[in-house]
Amino acid sequence: MRKFIFLCILVYGMVFGAFSVSAQEMLRVGLESVCNHVQQVNIGNNKISIGISADGNFISDAVIEGTQLNVKPLNGGYIISGVFNDFISASQYLKNSNKVNSVPVFLGLNKWSIADLSGGGNVGANAVIIYDGSNPIMISDCEYMLQIKGYDDTIINSKKYRGVIELYKSANSITAVNVIDIEEYLYGVVASEMPFSWHIEALKAQATAARSYAVSMIEKHKEKGYDVCDTVDCQVYKGIEGEEETVKTAVNETKGKLIYYDNQVINAVFFSSSGGSTAAAEDVWGTSFEYLKPVKEINENEAKEWTRTFTYLEISQILSRNNINIGNIENIFISETDKYSRVNALTIKGTEGEKILKNEEVRTFFSSTIGGSLDSRNFVIGGVSSVSQSNTLNALSENASEFVKLADVYVADVNNKPQNISSKSIYVLGQEGQKEYNVNNISVTVDKVIPNNTLVISGKGWGHGVGMSQFGAKGMAEAGHSYIEILKYYYTNVEVM
Ligand SMILES: [Zn+2]
Repeated sequence: MRKFIFLCILVYGMVFGAFSVSAQEMLRVGLESVCNHVQQVNIGNNKISIGISADGNFISDAVIEGTQLNVKPLNGGYIISGVFNDFISASQYLKNSNKVNSVPVFLGLNKWSIADLSGGGNVGANAVIIYDGSNPIMISDCEYMLQIKGYDDTIINSKKYRGVIELYKSANSITAVNVIDIEEYLYGVVASEMPFSWHIEALKAQATAARSYAVSMIEKHKEKGYDVCDTVDCQVYKGIEGEEETVKTAVNETKGKLIYYDNQVINAVFFSSSGGSTAAAEDVWGTSFEYLKPVKEINENEAKEWTRTFTYLEISQILSRNNINIGNIENIFISETDKYSRVNALTIKGTEGEKILKNEEVRTFFSSTIGGSLDSRNFVIGGVSSVSQSNTLNALSENASEFVKLADVYVADVNNKPQNISSKSIYVLGQEGQKEYNVNNISVTVDKVIPNNTLVISGKGWGHGVGMSQFGAKGMAEAGHSYIEILKYYYTNVEVM
C-alpha cells in the first residue's frame, strides 16, 4: 500500500493541519445532496445484498427482496431469541413458529437472531430496520452501520451509485454514504467540473487535479462519518448519472496519478478562467503555498468577459449597510495589483475618509448587488464601452507589439479614473503596464461616455483564480500540451506520479 502524507485544507475555513494516512483506494462519500439526515431512505432495487466491506471487498451475508424497500432508524428496543447462521434459516424458523411482530436481526457476519418488536430490551447505536412498503423485513443491529449493494448498482432515493452504500445513523436520522473506489468516484465527478466534450488532455488534467484534491481532503468530514461530501463544498459527485465515456477514459488513462509538491499530495484547487493570470493563494485566502503562485496564461482563449456598472449611490448604500462612513464618494481607483495586474486593492475615496477593499473583499463587497460579487479580480476601471475597442486597436496596431497582449482600451486619466472624451490623451492598458497616446494622432470612435458618479468595471475571468484555470487547460490541450505539462504549468514545481 502506498502511503500519503497530505495537507488537509478547508479552503474557506482555512484550517491547516498535517495528517498521515494509509493509502486509501476506497473513498467514503457522504451523499448530502440526496440523503442527508432523513427519516427514511428509499431503495430503488428489488433485490439487495446486506453485508460488510473489508479492504474494499464487499462480503454479502444476505439477499433481501421487495418491491418498495426502505430503511428507517430503529430506536425502540426489542427482545432477542435464538441463534442462526443466516437470514434464510432465521426467516424459515419465523415462518414455521407463527411468531408475530418478529423479524430476523443481523448482528454481524453469520450472526443472526430473532427480534420480537413488541417492546422491551435494548437497541444498538447503529440499529436500523428494513421494510418492504410498511412490512418490516429485518433489523440490522451490529457494530457496523448497515451496508447494502444492488446487483449492478444501488439506487438510493432514485439515484444510481456504484460501490456499496452505507446507511450512517446518527441520532434519529440516516445519511447515505457511498463507499467507492476513488477511480469510480472520479467517473461521477469530472463531468460536473468540466464539460465532457473538452479535449482529452484537459479532461485528464481535471481528473488528476480532482483525484489529488479528494486525497488532500480525506479528513475533512471525519466527524460526520465520511471523507468527502458530494456537493460543491468538496466536489460535486453525481454517481452513475454523472458519468460520461470521455471522462471515464480520462480517469482510466491517469489511474492513480497524483500531484505532489515536496512529496506531499497537493490541494489541487482550480477555477473556470483567470482572464490573463492566476492568483497567489495568499492573495485570496491569506495563506501562502509554494505551488499556488501566479502564472500568466498562455492559451486561455475563451475567458469570460464581463462589465459591471455601479452608481456611487449604490456603493454608498453598501458602505452604510456595513456601518462605514467616508462622506460623499469622490473617486474609486485600483490602488494595488499583483505582478500581473490582478487587482489586490480597490480604494473608495470619500470626502471624510476612504475605504480600501483588500483581496477577495474586492469581489465580495458587491455581493449584495443584483449581479452579485465580481466574477474575478482581473479587471480595469473604465471599460471598453468608452471607446470603440476594435477601431482603437487597429489604430494602435503598429504600437501593439510594445505589450505582450493588449487587455483593454479606454479613456481614462493616469489613475484609471474615467475621463470625458474631450481629454487629449488615451491610456492603453496592457498586461505589463499602460501607455499614453495623443488622441489627435489616432482615430478613435466614441461609443459611450461614462456618466459622472458611476463606476464601470470591465473584467475577464471567472472564479477565485488560484491553481489551474480550466479554460486555460482547454486552450493548452488544444495547442498540443499534455495533461502533465498543463498541471506542471499551473501548479509550481510539482511532480505528477
Ligand atoms: Zn464537503
